[in-house]
Amino acid sequence: MKSLKAVIGFLFLSLVLTVDLASAAEQEQEQDIYKKRMDLYTQVEAVTQIPWYYLAAVDQYERNVRQARKDLPKAEGIAGIYFKPEEWAGLLNPNPEDENPVSIQFFNGIGFDGNGDGKASRKDDEDVVHAFAQYLLKYGTDHENIKIGLWSYYKRDKTVGIIIGKAMIYKHFGRLDLDTHVFPLPLRSIHSYNNTWGDARGWGGRRIHEGTDIFAGYGVPVRATGYGIVEMKGWNKYGGWRVGIRDINNTYHYYAHLSGFAKDLKAGQIVEPGTIIGGVGSSGYGPPGTSGKFPPHLHYGMYKDNGYTEWSFDPYPHLKIWARKERARLKN
Ligand SMILES: [Zn+2]
Repeated sequence: MKSLKAVIGFLFLSLVLTVDLASAAEQEQEQDIYKKRMDLYTQVEAVTQIPWYYLAAVDQYERNVRQARKDLPKAEGIAGIYFKPEEWAGLLNPNPEDENPVSIQFFNGIGFDGNGDGKASRKDDEDVVHAFAQYLLKYGTDHENIKIGLWSYYKRDKTVGIIIGKAMIYKHFGRLDLDTHVFPLPLRSIHSYNNTWGDARGWGGRRIHEGTDIFAGYGVPVRATGYGIVEMKGWNKYGGWRVGIRDINNTYHYYAHLSGFAKDLKAGQIVEPGTIIGGVGSSGYGPPGTSGKFPPHLHYGMYKDNGYTEWSFDPYPHLKIWARKERARLKN
């Protein structure tokens, strides 16, 4: 009996160790991918003079879009930009899988041989990022012309805004590894929340409740949950004083019913996990300044953009994970 227990104990221990090792290996692999990507972007910058953070932003935007959509294949290499075969080879090219740079150019395809191996391949990360950089290069290498280039490519203001926002975030921090999150309220504050997403009614003022309500006292600090850029700050009839922050994964984080904003907080500002943006309040449901029509709480919403539309998804499981990981980090 004793030995059975020992065996079970051993099996359990080795399972735990294996899981631990796996996550350590995964983390290492992640760091490795960030490094390879950064090398790729800086290499293309050296050739084209297009700053790496714009290339990183386009690449990350497209990677996110592919993750969110079923009609696009998932990225296989380290680059995330996706070109349709006919876009790559040229619309009138009889061979949509063409990899010959000469005929691709003849048919006005976007395909480009970036690594000089004589082939312009959609499956080659260098060729893919170089191809996009070459497209932008037709417009110029400064901020305004890159914006114009992006607009002529995507023809969607929101997409251009999201990409430019990401570029500013990457530029600010000088690195790609920006995935850490924290819980929106200080972990030690007194707060409570349940999974209320999709409920018929809520203080968000929408037909279904698009978020999680976190109840806490007036003025408890509200923190940015991740790296991002402040996209919106102001008053809305239902949301009261609210802030919207876009992160590097095309996700929009919405903080509503605030008691007020952090001093100097402004649209366009870059934030990091833990940056204080305001306080818990009960503003909303009336003209600017209306407050106290319901118990103070933070309404936290999350929205995902997939390149042509944006939808709400449930923040609750994310809030749980962020709190757990933040707690684990604080212990170490
Ligand atoms: Zn709410």
